[in-house]
Amino acid sequence: MPADCIFCQIVAGRVPATKLYEDDEITAFRDIQPQANSHVLIIPNRHIVSLNDTSDDDIELLGRILRVAVKIAKEEGLADTGYRVSTNTGRDAQQSVDHLHFHVLGGNALLPRLG
Ligand code: 5GP
Ligand code: ZN
Repeated sequence: MPADCIFCQIVAGRVPATKLYEDDEITAFRDIQPQANSHVLIIPNRHIVSLNDTSDDDIELLGRILRVAVKIAKEEGLADTGYRVSTNTGRDAQQSVDHLHFHVLGGNALLPRLG
C-alpha cells in the first residue's frame, strides 16, 4: 500500500472520515466535498488504482461493492427518489484519487445526465 494514498490512510484509520460501512474488504465514507445532498464513496480496502487494475479475481469484490452501494442508498433514503453509482477511470474521466472508488450520489436531481 502506498504510504501517500489518502484512501489507504482512511481505511487504516490514520486519516479521519465519516465511515458509513466497513468490513474486511470494503469501506464506505462521506465525500469530503459533496457534489450532491448525499455523496458517499465506496472503496476496496486493498489498494487498487482503478478499474483498469482489476482482474477476474475481483469479480466478487466488485459485485459486493455494488451491493454495498444499494445498502448505502437505502440507508440514505435514496432508493425511491433515485441515485447514481459511478467510477472515474483515468485522465479523461478526471480521476483525482488513484485508489479505486465508486461514488454514490443522490438526494437531489443530478445533472448532467450521463450515458
Ligand atoms: P474522483 O474525482 O477521483 O472520481 O473522486 C475523488 C473524490 O474523493 C472527490 O469527490 C473528492 O472530494 C474525494 N476526496 C478526496 N480526498 C478526500 C479525503 O481526504 N476524504 C474524503 N472523505 N474524500 C476525499
Ligand atoms: Zn490506496
